[in-house]
Amino acid sequence: MKIGILKETQLGEKRVSISPNIAKQLIELGFDVLVEEDAGSTSSFKDSDYTNIGAIVEKRGVVFKEANILIKINPFDEEDLKLIDKGQILMSQLFHKSHPELIKAIANKGATAFSMDAMPRISRAQDMDVLSSQNNLAGYKAVILGAYEMTKIFPLMMTAAGTITPSRVLIYGVGVAGLQAIATAKRLGAVVEATDIRLETKEQTESLGAKFITVDNTGEESEGGYAKAASEEYARKQKEAVDKSLFQADLVITTAMVPGRKSPILITEEQVKHMKNGAVLIDLAAAQGGNCELSEMGKTVVKHGVKIIGTTISPESVSTNASDLYAKNMLNFIKHLTDKTEFKWDLEEEITDETLIVKDGKIRKNGKTE
Ligand code: NAD
Repeated sequence: MKIGILKETQLGEKRVSISPNIAKQLIELGFDVLVEEDAGSTSSFKDSDYTNIGAIVEKRGVVFKEANILIKINPFDEEDLKLIDKGQILMSQLFHKSHPELIKAIANKGATAFSMDAMPRISRAQDMDVLSSQNNLAGYKAVILGAYEMTKIFPLMMTAAGTITPSRVLIYGVGVAGLQAIATAKRLGAVVEATDIRLETKEQTESLGAKFITVDNTGEESEGGYAKAASEEYARKQKEAVDKSLFQADLVITTAMVPGRKSPILITEEQVKHMKNGAVLIDLAAAQGGNCELSEMGKTVVKHGVKIIGTTISPESVSTNASDLYAKNMLNFIKHLTDKTEFKWDLEEEITDETLIVKDGKIRKNGKTE
């Protein structure tokens, strides 16, 4: 069974789906590994790092032609589809719910496709969950970006020239990214506060030494431990409880998302007007509409003295670690799906069922083959 690792072609992408260390482990499991020339160069992996562990480096066309399994991070695109053959197994993020035309095109090719972003959020799938592994790095990077954009430092500093008081950081949303942002800002010496609609995150926040701002969530629905869209009443109570901290914060990081929905607006223009002059707001939910009314995806705007950065989660900016973690998720996933390099095709099993989007040219819906 040959696994093909393709170079990512999406603009700005620096990661590679399988790092040399994980390629070595796939070879030890009995797979042959083919790597497209230069695939790892923007993640600091040389072609020779792959050939040294027994992988074969080849031109793009050869990888497409010879591999049984093709692996990427970003969805396969039109150029890729021209080179895909019947019977090949594709593995990448597909975001299938918002890309029905891509799924149709893959099916028309007679291929099979697994989507990594469709991983069920259950305990035994945690080590295959690419959204978590990448969001964790994004939470870290958001704080570093904030530190760079701020005109203040994080820690308390007592110097002969005077005392510098610590910066105040406020985090909205204590999911994977939010938790790592709290931990990073704490390590850098900031005074950190956080809030989340899910009250079970209070303990996690406090265990990192940050203060949790509790907002009464009576009457709010959740689904399997995940947030659902909040009511207007909740938004009002949240403003009441959090505004004091918001108006004192030097850095605000928003990460609040609702699976499958537009992100909730948590900070309005009126609130921004009351924020500290010179404060920085990093909106990690910008790609899903943003948590701040004024944020614009991919842009830094200064409004009412606040620098608002609308950014998507950007694990590619730490591509060496991000590639390593994505690759480890892929290795665990492949191990889960196969036995001695042969696929088990256990469609009754939840992880296989949820992630298998197209099987032998047939689009699957709700886990059932059409
Ligand atoms: P997410 O990216 O969907 O959302 C980020 C956070 O925003 C969540 O904590 C959510 O509760 C919060 N939020 C949403 N609306 C809000 C609002 N109006 N006000 C305040 N906060 C709001 O979440 P995530 O990072 O994917 O993780 C959510 C939880 O799922 C975490 O506890 C995580 O550990 C868990 N998780 C488990 C698995 C698994 O078991 N395989 C995988 C991934 C995540």
